[in-house]
Amino acid sequence: MLRVQNLSVHYGMIQAVREVNFEVNQGEIVSLIGANGAGKTTILRTISGLIRPSKGSITFEGNEIQKTVPQKIVASGLSQVPEGRHIFPGLTVQENLEMGAFLRKDSSEMKADYEQIFKKFPILAERKTQDAATLSGGEQQMLAMGRALMSKPKLLLLDEPSMGLAPIFIKEIFTIIQEIQQQGTTVLLIEQNAKMALSIANRGYVLETGNIVLEGTGAELLASEEVKKAYLGG
Ligand code: ATP
Repeated sequence: MLRVQNLSVHYGMIQAVREVNFEVNQGEIVSLIGANGAGKTTILRTISGLIRPSKGSITFEGNEIQKTVPQKIVASGLSQVPEGRHIFPGLTVQENLEMGAFLRKDSSEMKADYEQIFKKFPILAERKTQDAATLSGGEQQMLAMGRALMSKPKLLLLDEPSMGLAPIFIKEIFTIIQEIQQQGTTVLLIEQNAKMALSIANRGYVLETGNIVLEGTGAELLASEEVKKAYLGG
């Protein structure tokens, strides 16, 4: 579904991503783990079309997208939940969800999708008319995920969904990510919380200073001595 080949990304003279290769197959949850500054966010933003690579290609469903504008990438079925959520303050929960559907014109189907999202995230239904800025961190993460789902993505890109959340919310968010997969959406998950990310992943990749240094199934990586030492606290 998604293939990243020989991808390099620079910020001026700084090379943040070095010749990275990985793929995501339809139906999978793939986790990309790595420490602060390893280049995870840069890779996601490059896939979404927000940053241009200096080298390499990104192929989504057979089409190269590394030169495509972000709106077209979203319209083709790829949607990102950014790090730090970036919900729209001053808009209600309902209005934030509507922003996620701004490229859609199928209003009757959209209505059913709002219902689906409120079913998946009952707290958002309760807070429908409330200013999104007043939600807790975990609720904002749910809203950001609901908003991304309103674009009906085939592939959902999640950037550190557990960041800053209490353990109970982290568990809930990861359960919902698995439900999203079961309902047919493919997921690329970027996380510093390696344990959670690998435990729900079909496959994973470990990124260190812009390079992929290890790959395997979620279970293989969880059992790997290197991963245990570097990311799971021994
Ligand atoms: P984090 O989990 O902290 O977000 P990350 O793995 O997502 O880390 P990136 O944010 O992709 O890492 O950063 C990769 C490298 O690129 C880091 O060295 C970072 O300092 C650098 N970098 C990121 N954004 C910029 C920018 N706008 N200008 C210059 N350097 C940048």
